Amino acid sequence: MIHQLPTLQGVVKQLQQVPFLASKNLYRVLSHFLEMDPAKLDAFCAALQAAKQKLVRCSRCFVWQEKDRQCLFCYNEKRDQSTICVIESWQELLAIERTEGYKGLYHVLGGTICPLDGIGPEDLTIQPLINRIDDSIQEVILAMNQTPEGEVTSAFIVQKISHKNIKISCLAKGVPVGSSLEFIDRLTMFKALSERRPF
Ligand SMILES: [Zn+2]
Repeated sequence: MIHQLPTLQGVVKQLQQVPFLASKNLYRVLSHFLEMDPAKLDAFCAALQAAKQKLVRCSRCFVWQEKDRQCLFCYNEKRDQSTICVIESWQELLAIERTEGYKGLYHVLGGTICPLDGIGPEDLTIQPLINRIDDSIQEVILAMNQTPEGEVTSAFIVQKISHKNIKISCLAKGVPVGSSLEFIDRLTMFKALSERRPF
């Protein structure tokens, strides 16, 4: 049936390329857009295009930033420039920032080491992390998700940076195993960070 509706076929093909959009939700999302007020849909598309044009990753910490401004973290005197919190993706940054209990820097790895998916250390920003740990850095906090891939990635990083004269810590126990840090509540995240332990 869908073959007789080339416009529908076209948009479905595009939506199918969006990761994390489960196929069972695809038509629901499409219906939402189709029923949207045209002006609202235009605003949605414009915001997405503006984001694509104006957001870039900071070349140091790899957090999304406005293209024409300095990084909110790396060039912010109010942030503790001696501590780096290493995270898999910027969604975790949002969860950590919500706690209002962390004032250091970040480093976004862009994922975890996962040989089954063909993701090795060179596919992540591990080398830039190693490069940025100079004498000004006192502590690196490994805030990976509590998954086997997260643990493998943490262990790999520790092996690479343990010779440097810095404190290496990880989140306190208490974060549920297998859980994504992005979704843990504010208090649990606050405790996990403030009660962090040596790796
Ligand atoms: Zn930065």
